[in-house]
Amino acid sequence: MRHPVVMGNWKLNGSKEMVSGLIKGLDAALNGVEGVDVAIAPPVMFLDLAQQLLSKADSKIILGAQNVDLHNSGAFTGDISPEMLKEFGASHIIIGHSERREYHHESDAFVAEKFAFLKENGLTPVLCIGESEAQNEAGETVAVCARQLDAVINTQGVEALNGAIIAYEPIWAIGTGKAATADDAQRIHAAIRAHIAAKSEDVAKNVVIQYGGSVKPENAAAYFAQPDIDGALVGGAALDAESFAAIAKAAAEAKK
Ligand code: PEP
Repeated sequence: MRHPVVMGNWKLNGSKEMVSGLIKGLDAALNGVEGVDVAIAPPVMFLDLAQQLLSKADSKIILGAQNVDLHNSGAFTGDISPEMLKEFGASHIIIGHSERREYHHESDAFVAEKFAFLKENGLTPVLCIGESEAQNEAGETVAVCARQLDAVINTQGVEALNGAIIAYEPIWAIGTGKAATADDAQRIHAAIRAHIAAKSEDVAKNVVIQYGGSVKPENAAAYFAQPDIDGALVGGAALDAESFAAIAKAAAEAKK
């Protein structure tokens, strides 16, 4: 059975004070919650602080990050390596987020290389895929997701998805409040799983596919009630301890 994973993407938000308050609040709000893996991806500047706070609280919250470079050292100004992320306890690394694809022109092939490098370094890729509003309206959603996934499958084999996390995030739903309906999201998740199953039923059965795009405490349970939605990647609502904990609890409850 797949274990649900709820991850918070803090994006470019935070200060020492905010990180400290949010982690303490979240850890307290998650006290006694079982059956869901909860991960947070603060800005890398705060990984050290986050790691210290989590370790002091003996917290089960998993630490992650929002990006990684393709090298472990060298003349790559401004970049962060897998080795560095590991040293600060980050294991779940978001790649291919639509904001990086758009603002940093990251291609499917480049994202797939990051995927391979994370795996090589023993880290868990959280691979974001998803369509734009225009692609959605043109009925291209499944084809876009398949193309983004195939960049990994065709270069690394379908087994590379073992242990990784896929986050289906319709771009038009990210940070807009325009969430996909639970039924529509389920349909796309099932199609993504079927695409993987065509190569390996076993990998498809076991891979965690999160939904992301304006997930809130109010709509979370409806997503998690769907058989192919195994958790969520959460932006805005992850910046509030009570809201994020409520989403994690909804996942734990639905997937009992
Ligand atoms: C995201 O950035 O991955 C995201 C899903 O954001 P939000 O929850 O704010 O839509």
